[in-house]
Amino acid sequence: MLPSESYRQINSTIPQHVTLIAVSKNHSSSAIKDVYHAGCRDFGENKVQELIQKNAELPEDIKWHMIGHLQTNKVKYIVPFTYLIHSVDSIKLLLEINKEASKIGKIQNCLIQFHIAKEETKYGFSLDEANTLFNMELIQNCKNISICGVMGMASFTDDELIIRNEFRSLKHMYESFKKQYNNILPHFNQISMGMSSDFHIAIEEGSTMVRIGSTIFGQRNYSNI
Ligand SMILES: *Cc1c(COP(=O)(O)O)cnc(C)c1O
Repeated sequence: MLPSESYRQINSTIPQHVTLIAVSKNHSSSAIKDVYHAGCRDFGENKVQELIQKNAELPEDIKWHMIGHLQTNKVKYIVPFTYLIHSVDSIKLLLEINKEASKIGKIQNCLIQFHIAKEETKYGFSLDEANTLFNMELIQNCKNISICGVMGMASFTDDELIIRNEFRSLKHMYESFKKQYNNILPHFNQISMGMSSDFHIAIEEGSTMVRIGSTIFGQRNYSNI
């Protein structure tokens, strides 16, 4: 099946209020164009180099989503054109994004990544960390950042109950954060959760953005770009 056909099929089954982000990492610009022509404008990448290259090659009205771990020294390369950074996993990174965005007079949309999976290796804040690290002053000082919501990844497991509980915990973190900062975060509306294997569960648990790669583009071929 062509990527565009898979995209249409998935897009027709998800609710209107959920944004489908086509995760195009390790896939060619021509595969992206195929999905673009089916109407998709939101694409996700997890590597800075690949994101820069594809941004240069592809139409300007694409909304690029950075979904992978981002090193502070690479922030400056992607802020000029990235629509939404999903993977803010440290205060240091938040401050760096704010600095680079202020240099070019941009308000950069960001999500706070929360750690919800059992795996030790996943990046992101715990709720306790977020409660101690974030405060009114910090958020108000980051004038060039719009914190639009939260992002998280569930454990790599077949156990639906574990996945569902992890998504539910992200929803709770979202609500807790929103309640605390409601008056200073007017755009805090998004919950980015759900991938190819678990997006149905994520949507049931309140996801507003699903990040789908292999179900649209097929298996990632690490030699085709
Ligand atoms: C690769 C990736 C996805 C998409 O994964 P699929 O299983 O291919 O749908 C979603 N989110 C993040 C953060 C990713 O790195």
